[in-house]
Amino acid sequence: MSFTIFADTRMALARDSLAGLSAGDALGSQYFVPGNTPADLAAGRLPAPPWSWTDDTEMACSVVRALDTAGEIDRDALALAFAERAEPYRGYGPGAVTVLRLIRTGTPWPVAAAAAFEGQGSCGNGAAMRVAPLGAYFADSTSRAAAQARASAEVTHAHPEGIAGAVAVAVAAALAARGRLDGQRPDAARLLAGVAGALDPGGEVHRGVRRAADLRDRSLAEAVDALGNGSRVTAQDTVPFTLWVAARHLADYPAAIRACVEAGGDVDTTAAIVGGVVAAYTGVGVPGGVPADWLAAREPLPAWLD
Ligand SMILES: [Mg+2]
Repeated sequence: MSFTIFADTRMALARDSLAGLSAGDALGSQYFVPGNTPADLAAGRLPAPPWSWTDDTEMACSVVRALDTAGEIDRDALALAFAERAEPYRGYGPGAVTVLRLIRTGTPWPVAAAAAFEGQGSCGNGAAMRVAPLGAYFADSTSRAAAQARASAEVTHAHPEGIAGAVAVAVAAALAARGRLDGQRPDAARLLAGVAGALDPGGEVHRGVRRAADLRDRSLAEAVDALGNGSRVTAQDTVPFTLWVAARHLADYPAAIRACVEAGGDVDTTAAIVGGVVAAYTGVGVPGGVPADWLAAREPLPAWLD
């Protein structure tokens, strides 16, 4: 069935996803602060506010702003927006700092992105961590979500796995948002099969997503053991795990974020990815959705977003 989504609905879906992404990022990064433990969160004790967001949210805000402005990704404009808005204290990795500095000082993005990691291009999480709202925006077409995710990824990530990570997350968010519009939750097997179908079958992210599907009824510890938890900060070691969590907890945002915190690893990024996908399905301030008190504790989003 094909249907029309009006611009306002697209933006509402993208903004709900961004709310989930940013709250996940901000809360997740609190577990790098000494004294905050996953056991506290499991017992319902939240860290003291405010929770500052990190690079994941800053870049995702640029993606959302680009869609609001143009309805699609203009790669040149997005590359410049990432470079000009990057605040150095937001936790960007060294590879991202270099690429963004090159772009800011006039190097064309294809050259800057290809130069990263001694000419291999980045297979880090940067493209995946910022893309869930884009997937929600294209809830009516997973192929459009995949193509636009690729465009948003390649301005900083030239490695095929870095791009595949973004495509996987965007397609997951598109399917989640589509399920919300249809009033029908996609089950874990269908969600993960839909994601795998959008990826190059020769790639490691694809293999990981298929493995995540096989593990969908196993424990969190088993999933971490088989898939990773983002501690290697590559798309291969982060995206399959995050989609396992999102597929498992698609109707329960707080449970999904608690799973990321319990799993450890690159928690701000895993919680940002998972939060962006799950909130595309649940929405905000409703049972199972992004809790209003979590959003109140999160640092406000940048003023330039509005
Ligand atoms: Mg971060």
